Amino acid sequence: MAKKRINVPVKLRNRLFDEVQSKCPNPKCDKVGISTLEVHHMDGDPSNNDERNLLAICSNCHTEAEKGLISHADLDLWKRMLVSGYHPHPLAMGAPSRDRAGFNIGANYGQVAGTINNTVKQEKSTKGRVILPGSIGSDPGKYNYMEYLIKRLADFRSKGSSYGQKRKSKVHPGVVRSQIEKEWGGLPKDLPIDRFEALIESLKDKIDRTALGRNNRRRGIRNYHPIEEHGK
Ligand SMILES: [Zn+2]
Repeated sequence: MAKKRINVPVKLRNRLFDEVQSKCPNPKCDKVGISTLEVHHMDGDPSNNDERNLLAICSNCHTEAEKGLISHADLDLWKRMLVSGYHPHPLAMGAPSRDRAGFNIGANYGQVAGTINNTVKQEKSTKGRVILPGSIGSDPGKYNYMEYLIKRLADFRSKGSSYGQKRKSKVHPGVVRSQIEKEWGGLPKDLPIDRFEALIESLKDKIDRTALGRNNRRRGIRNYHPIEEHGK
């Protein structure tokens, strides 16, 4: 049964509009101004006015979100960015930018700035990569292991041709990342950290099912090392 809509209190509404700087958070949308904005209930329950469940977006994008034309993963990502002091739109203040340090450490970053600075220090080799707080990319250990499996899968797929698979040319890790983006609703590094285990299991399963992976298993050769051994 559909739940009853409870009006969002004005103060909360204003706070949500402030959170997006009166600008639709959809990076592909250009709507600006409070008059264009509405409050979207991210879990689809119009009676759940918990601030974490509410996202200010323009009326066009709101309609698209209700129709499922904007994915939950996107909406969830925008909300997490906003809560962390980023604006998902490239033209907004506080948008993640790819400056020399990899980050635009601006006034908006608030309490996450410290975390981000630490992450930057640990991730010097990957400068230019935007790291979202709460994402897999924000945990170097998890991120590095995930990247290892992505490269491993690309490698195993590239070698498929010598085991009778149709694919002959080299498969690049970027192709694997794009496939994950399509399947999971976000680039692997941007996915919420609580999806790490599921993503890792999916990658291992894909590796095991390649021709080389199956062949290795028959011969008792392991296809990848466990995370505990990574970087050791
Ligand atoms: Zn919009």
